[in-house]
Amino acid sequence: MNFTLHLTADCNFACRYCYETHSPARMSEETAINACRLLFSYGHKKNGFSLFGGEPLLCRGVIERVLGFCAEESAKIGGQMRYRMTTNGSLLDADFLRLASEHRIEIALSHDGPLQDDQRRTRGGAPTLGLLDEKVSMLLEAQPNAIAMLTLARENVGRLSEAVLWLYARGFSRVNCAIDYRPQTPWTEEDMALLAREYGVLAEFCAAHYDDPRPLRFLNFDAKIAAYIEGRPCMECRLGIKQPSVAPDGRIYPCNQFLNLPEYLMGDVMHGIDREAQKRIYYASLGEPESCRGCALNARCRNSCSCLNFSMTGDEHTVPPVQCAHERALIPAADRMAELLYTKKSPRFMRAYGGRLPAKAE
Ligand code: SF4
Ligand code: SF4
Ligand code: SF4
Repeated sequence: MNFTLHLTADCNFACRYCYETHSPARMSEETAINACRLLFSYGHKKNGFSLFGGEPLLCRGVIERVLGFCAEESAKIGGQMRYRMTTNGSLLDADFLRLASEHRIEIALSHDGPLQDDQRRTRGGAPTLGLLDEKVSMLLEAQPNAIAMLTLARENVGRLSEAVLWLYARGFSRVNCAIDYRPQTPWTEEDMALLAREYGVLAEFCAAHYDDPRPLRFLNFDAKIAAYIEGRPCMECRLGIKQPSVAPDGRIYPCNQFLNLPEYLMGDVMHGIDREAQKRIYYASLGEPESCRGCALNARCRNSCSCLNFSMTGDEHTVPPVQCAHERALIPAADRMAELLYTKKSPRFMRAYGGRLPAKAE
């Protein structure tokens, strides 16, 4: 069982593209521990929390309480905990990294490489690239496979490959990119053409270095390639079931973008999940968006992310045009990478996928 704990909506950064509505609200220890109790009440041995913010490390005391409580409860049932945390990195230190390795917290660092100072500033407006330098070194030493989470602002679209390759050179082997999906960002066709070009550059680079001892894994491509070869959707949403979100006040919602919306409330940490509300929300989320019927990319598209659709269009089933255009830029680049790897019979690629390549690729 997995929950997302929204520890706070507060942050010590004020990134230009941030979509969060910041507030000083923080989850209390009592609420966090009740969330843990609820998690264990389902009787699963494998459990996990995604530690989410704002900036989750502003709530370090609560995190430490959660880790201690869950370690004890897990030990009683011979279970296993896993944690994920995305952080802006500013509050990382050696003690926390020790705790992270003891409790299996997989840390993803939000970092835009050379574009960092353009968008990612402290609340007081100070640049953050230099501030993070030592933190990046410490993180990569503790977790060499840590993911760099890059957010691409529209005005920097032509510099995506430069930013990803900068992060790779800095020591990150795994990079994920999200574009600025705020509804007010005016992405144009020209931007998307530039983005397609940038993805193309990265596809060539990833393919050329795929068999290196330390290849660049651009995770956006990995998901699309695996989905095609393994014949499965590139994401499985299961809204409200897979990863319910616990708000700072303990109320439970189906996912990140639905926090504090009364019509999406599905319980709280004291009383548990309201099964009827959960079922209603889950079933309402199913179904193919009308605009996607017949599209060849359907199974490999993130068109069914209710969060993204809802936050941009106000409707879970309406895919925003920018998402469609983005997928049409990304998927062909991933295919190009797979084609290059297949053509050169990359040993690593063939080991990973050789036995499962669809007949037409063979
Ligand atoms: S670090 Fe994250 S939560 Fe904080 S302002 Fe930046 S994007 Fe928003
Ligand atoms: S709504 Fe989107 S973010 Fe939430 S679980 Fe579904 S796919 Fe994931
Ligand atoms: S590419 Fe566009 S039309 Fe095709 S499945 Fe994705 S969102 Fe729908």
